Amino acid sequence: MPTANAPRITGANAAYRTVMVPMLPFAAIIVRCMTDLTAPAASLTPQRRRSGTHPAARGQETAIGRKKRARRINRTLAAVFPDARAELDYTTPLELLVATVLSAQTTDVRVNQVTPELFARFPTPEAYASASQTDIEEIIRPTGFYRAKAANLIGLGQKLVTDFGGEVPTALDDLVTLPGVGRKTAHVVRGNAFDMPGLTVDTHFQRLVHRLALTEETDPVAIEHAIAALVEKKEWTMFSHRIIFLGRRVCHARTPACGACPLRFDCPSFGAGPTGPAEAAARVTGPERSHILAFAGVGE
Ligand code: SF4
Repeated sequence: MPTANAPRITGANAAYRTVMVPMLPFAAIIVRCMTDLTAPAASLTPQRRRSGTHPAARGQETAIGRKKRARRINRTLAAVFPDARAELDYTTPLELLVATVLSAQTTDVRVNQVTPELFARFPTPEAYASASQTDIEEIIRPTGFYRAKAANLIGLGQKLVTDFGGEVPTALDDLVTLPGVGRKTAHVVRGNAFDMPGLTVDTHFQRLVHRLALTEETDPVAIEHAIAALVEKKEWTMFSHRIIFLGRRVCHARTPACGACPLRFDCPSFGAGPTGPAEAAARVTGPERSHILAFAGVGE
């Protein structure tokens, strides 16, 4: 019951209380959503830090700090390498599987040189299953280890026919039963041909996650699990591609281009290679070179 001193609720006031007040919680939700939409994008790698002061370089990084840095590195690399992808040429899961088996101990460029003829001559698992060893060897010889690889391709075709109905399986446990197929190859096929997230731990990936101090693990499976705990699952396949792109173009095994690296202020190993912008820029390679240098703020 209203008291004598209470303001009288009449006219516009009454309308406000009966119509607007019940809607206030919904209005708050709408404002919150609009705020989220207009908030700045998630942060990228900082562009300023004194050399040697990175917490990870001094063993002072927390677990949550490492996870945040891994995700920031992924976002930065997504901006630097928007076209990161598997660099093997293929059009079907079988072609990707074969190309990845051939890529062991050689470059993707060399594999891409032999696969057009190989794929044309052997378009199905049945064709590999009944192929002559010497016919395959002749075609894949430039990729090295061609005798073992040819035997693997024939065995792979036979197993696909006998165990999997002539289809490339999608399960990791099934893929690794194929000759010449390990966990790395299985993840490449699952991630790229079937859009199933997976981390590809190859030599570039191992070197880079150690330089970036994202894990101390040395066994490839342990590395895979350690990085999987840092990076969002939906990002696993692309994170692998981006890290491998960086390893091929900037963070070379022998002399990394630290002074022109887009991650240099997020990397505890900054200084493993030349830090002078001009000297480092000369070591950056690949078709994205000018974009990488611009992103790193290094002019030529
Ligand atoms: S190039 Fe240098 S700064 Fe960049 S990731 Fe490699 S070691 Fe770190």
